[in-house]
Amino acid sequence: MRPQAQIFLGPPGAGKGTQAREVSKHFSIPQISTGDMLREAVRNQTPLGLVAKAKMEAGELVPDEIVCGIVEERISEPDCRRGFILDGFPRTLAQAEFVDRMLQAKGKGAPLVLDIKVDGDLLLKRLTGRRTCSVCGEIYNIYLNPPKADGVCDKDGGKLGQRPDDEEQAIRQRLLAYETQTRPLIDYYQRKGLLREVDGSRGPEAIAKELIDFLEKA
Ligand SMILES: [Zn+2]
Repeated sequence: MRPQAQIFLGPPGAGKGTQAREVSKHFSIPQISTGDMLREAVRNQTPLGLVAKAKMEAGELVPDEIVCGIVEERISEPDCRRGFILDGFPRTLAQAEFVDRMLQAKGKGAPLVLDIKVDGDLLLKRLTGRRTCSVCGEIYNIYLNPPKADGVCDKDGGKLGQRPDDEEQAIRQRLLAYETQTRPLIDYYQRKGLLREVDGSRGPEAIAKELIDFLEKA
């Protein structure tokens, strides 16, 4: 039987969110993104949402127990009975240990962890090469999917720009943060024999096909 909990890991630019969405659609199971859920909990003013809101307004990080609590509430909902995907969570070893305890307590069995791996140079190109049309929002990549004319949208001639968090310095920071925070987590799942590596250097369709084929058989 397919493991109920599927955890998608991968650095920024690996296409983790896109792949989680494809798998979620294919198997009709929810994709649970902690970022989205935090915002929703705040909007719905749940007890945890109210605490998270206070922390965020004070400019503090939302503590592990809040994020974990929100995940626990979410996976207790009926639509998670047939399985679910955790996207962007756990991020740290402490969160991974929490997930293990929670799944065990709910009788859901061990998670399957999919690590989408992409070589550092390609990640930098994917992330730093991204340019967005100021008119229609079309996304290009100056290395991998360049517009016909430099700096101009093919569709409407709009000017292409770079978002501040796509600049090289910011991206190196994000990659470094991922590497230092998440590396121990990958080792942790590897030791437990729960990790499956996926080659993320290919196009999104090829990756999605491999993931779905693998999960069909799992
Ligand atoms: Zn455009």
